[in-house]
Amino acid sequence: MVRDRPQHSEPYVGRFAPSPTGDLHFGSLVAAVGSYLQARARGGRWLVRIEDIDPPREVAGSAARILGDLRRYGMHPDGEVLYQSTRADAHAAAIAQLLAQGDAFPCACTRSMLPASGVYPGTCRARSVTVSTPGSIRLRVDHGPIAFTDRVMGRHAQDLAATVGDFVIRRSDGLPAYQLAVVVDDAEQGITEIVRGADLLDSTPRQMLVHRRLGLTPPRYLHLPVAVNPDGSKLSKRLRSDPVNLTDPADGLAAALRFLGHAPPAGLDLARLWEWGHAHWDVARIPSRPTIAFCPDTLKH
Ligand code: GLU
Repeated sequence: MVRDRPQHSEPYVGRFAPSPTGDLHFGSLVAAVGSYLQARARGGRWLVRIEDIDPPREVAGSAARILGDLRRYGMHPDGEVLYQSTRADAHAAAIAQLLAQGDAFPCACTRSMLPASGVYPGTCRARSVTVSTPGSIRLRVDHGPIAFTDRVMGRHAQDLAATVGDFVIRRSDGLPAYQLAVVVDDAEQGITEIVRGADLLDSTPRQMLVHRRLGLTPPRYLHLPVAVNPDGSKLSKRLRSDPVNLTDPADGLAAALRFLGHAPPAGLDLARLWEWGHAHWDVARIPSRPTIAFCPDTLKH
């Protein structure tokens, strides 16, 4: 079945941006499937970016295994995979721009000097700490809410000064922080809508601020529910220990579609499941709760 594509003024570009800190697991599979089907439904491109900017947390071989799993599932990116580790110059240039504009400042505080609330109290804002490498750099935040309307989760607002404070854009080990790198690279790749797990909903206002301070327009956002254990804790990150058999792509895709509020008929093979997904994908069906207790029996193929 061919559906009419909605007409939009700008070409749609979506992405899946896994960190190679472990194998693909149910949560990342849901983000991959959701971002892929949304890009296809919008007649757009779907890109993959490996967020390998945190060598201490990287698990050897996991980037290649994630890319292999995407291929096995039949999700092929519309362009070269971008490795974030190749973008160090662009990340450094963005940090230099923010420093030059007076929007960022070097910070000499150690973890033990920060309050338990986690809200940075502005200690180094007015101090003249010399920019050294390594050394952390923070982005200045203002009082007042940063708000956006998520396509699934609805309106979300956060006062960064009250909840986070000036936040780190370069870590004390000299590596660019996720909040900075993700913005610089989404802009480089021309991403128009970010589809990802709702565990990142609270990062979005920080990223919108980085976009604005760099003179960029933030993309649109669509956060998908995240699977948690019945007690609310995080699911195991290991694909092969998941209760749904994700090593079989048809089972995994069917489970991801069900989790996202779609109900494919039982027994379809992988190709037919994708056909069904392309024909029936509807953002309005996605549950608008940030977390959902994972119940493998309701997701079985
Ligand atoms: N790399 C992040 C992760 O694997 C996702 C980043 C994003 O989608 O913005 O959790």
